[in-house]
Amino acid sequence: MNLTILGSTGSIGASTLDVVARHPGRYRVLALAAQRRDDILFEQCARFQPRYAALLDDDAAGRLAQKTAAAGLDVQVLSGIAALERVSSLPEVDAVMAAIVGAAGLRPTLAAACAGKKILLANKETLVMAGRIFMDAARQHGATLLPIDSEHNAVFQALPRDYAGDLAASGVRRILLTASGGSFRDAPLSALQHVTPEQACAHPNWVMGRKISVDSSTMMNKGLEVIEAHWLFNAPADAIEVVIHPQSVIHSLVQYVDGSVLAQLGNPDMRTPIAHALAYPERIEAGVEPLDLIRVATLNFEAPDFARFPCLALAYRALRAGGTAPAALNAANEIAVAAFLERQIPFLAIPQVIERVLEALPVTRVATLDDVLSADTAARAAAHELVQRMAAPCPQPLSTPARQP
Ligand code: NAD
Ligand code: MG
Repeated sequence: MNLTILGSTGSIGASTLDVVARHPGRYRVLALAAQRRDDILFEQCARFQPRYAALLDDDAAGRLAQKTAAAGLDVQVLSGIAALERVSSLPEVDAVMAAIVGAAGLRPTLAAACAGKKILLANKETLVMAGRIFMDAARQHGATLLPIDSEHNAVFQALPRDYAGDLAASGVRRILLTASGGSFRDAPLSALQHVTPEQACAHPNWVMGRKISVDSSTMMNKGLEVIEAHWLFNAPADAIEVVIHPQSVIHSLVQYVDGSVLAQLGNPDMRTPIAHALAYPERIEAGVEPLDLIRVATLNFEAPDFARFPCLALAYRALRAGGTAPAALNAANEIAVAAFLERQIPFLAIPQVIERVLEALPVTRVATLDDVLSADTAARAAAHELVQRMAAPCPQPLSTPARQP
């Protein structure tokens, strides 16, 4: 099977290459793509010998081309967003791992959908921003979607094999998404004010990129996943419940009308969902430590605290509002998280920026990709302005708490 890996230099990209390397006869890396880390991409090219290597950044691609030529590698180096779209839709590509972080992943992932590829979907932001457009494109062009997000991969495994997007017809009452609770699960609100990027990125159970690590600590990650589940499984907001489960052993569950609850368990290691999606419907070795239930011993569950983690409530609100609201939520979150990582705004300002942006921008209908992109641009501009104001020497405290979903 010929693979394109979008976001190969990131955390999911590295885990994907790890699984692929365990099955050299089965998978061939045809294209690798990333933003600007030519040093890492060069090493990956030397090891996996792809036919194409694409970087968004022109200068970085220039450096990569020099290095690959000097090393005598037979790889075509490409650059720019059109190149990312191209390697996602090449006729000889069978499957695309969509693991670019953030809104930047939308265009190449959509290109894979329009080319009818098998898509291993890690880039949840694509579904949050443009769920309807992406799902319609996948349906229309016969693309296959396999969720990589551990929760959605678990739900996929716990749903009937022939699940066709109708919860009631499959006897499903609810989807239960588990959440670790992030780095600050038990921290009182007062302690969250002074949280640093380093603390926010130190996730208790998973090793991930910086943006998703901050999203986990604010619980926006779970909020984005609620919206992701809505599109992947055609589930209304009311049928998606979040359960805090600190051990991250149960990756999610499906509750059926007869009282049965099916769950998928495993050690928190993204190579499991990656291997599952790569080989589906077969099973392959992923290099993951087998789960030792005796050592785990205890599984705990609790309700999420919407007051301490308003981002989760904001995501439910955006999902219920529909139209451009989730795209605005996502864009405002990306700007706020980047500002937090740059130490421009405090941790607790992240939900405040998002809420103000959602309140300021009208929700409109999404009919085309341009509708999504305009909402994304407007929300980024609004969020940016708020960040600038907050980053001023005397930041204004923000007061309005998020509403419950
Ligand atoms: P990461 O930050 O480690 O890697 C991001 C990758 O995207 C890098 O290869 C980077 O070069 C590339 N990239 C960033 N901006 C780009 C741009 N403008 N154009 C092209 N490439 C760009 O992130 P990650 O943790 O691997 O997460 C990737 C995606 O997978 C995210 O959407 C995240 O929500 C999702 N995800 C990650 C995990 C995890 O365990 N890491 C779990 C579930 C879902
Ligand atoms: Mg997840």
